[in-house]
Amino acid sequence: MKGHFRKRGCKCPSNNCTCGKKWSFIIDVGKDPETGKRKQESRSGFKTKQEAEAAAAALITEVNKGIFIKESDMLFKEWANDWLLLYIERNGPKPGTIRLRQYSIKKLLPYFAHIKLKNITEEMYQSALNDLKVQDFSRSTIEGVHTTAKMIFKMAVNKRMLKIDPTQNAYIKKDPQVIIESDEEDLPLFFEREDLELFLNTVRNKGLFLDNAIFTTYHPLGCVSVN
Ligand SMILES: [Zn+2]
Repeated sequence: MKGHFRKRGCKCPSNNCTCGKKWSFIIDVGKDPETGKRKQESRSGFKTKQEAEAAAAALITEVNKGIFIKESDMLFKEWANDWLLLYIERNGPKPGTIRLRQYSIKKLLPYFAHIKLKNITEEMYQSALNDLKVQDFSRSTIEGVHTTAKMIFKMAVNKRMLKIDPTQNAYIKKDPQVIIESDEEDLPLFFEREDLELFLNTVRNKGLFLDNAIFTTYHPLGCVSVN
């Protein structure tokens, strides 16, 4: 595999560079199967030639193992569009499901539309989910957005356009558990039949004078029936 290392713009003597220019390399990574054209990869920004050589060697190893992925330069909005067409073609979803996916994409666009897929990080994606939460969208809406985003990025990874799926570890924040302080306890306002029987028997056997008459004829919440 051919490689070419250089320090663009450096005119210093070969063993005493003081200009601070960075090393870069360009290597062949095989041929495009469709066009037969030579494919090249370049990287730059290395402080030393050794660093550049190590990076080139790592890249060549990936290519040889067949695990090299040339990440796409596609913008999120372009891929989301393409993805939707593929999704419809593959899954033949119901119109309602298509509308849900479109709606979810629309919610993602303000965050990512003009960003390249490969530049969307886990942190960026997580903050988008958090922001939807702050905007008070319902949990089911955010779940729909998250599910859609997961499908969009997963397909990009499957198509080897993307190395890392930024949605993989993302989560929707849970609402904090709120304890509602209330004077009125949430107890039923009436006795169950068994409780009522027990109560009235107690009144009859152990109650004070007239208790039995009072409780069997009047109740503050309405009438009680002994039978
Ligand atoms: Zn120099």
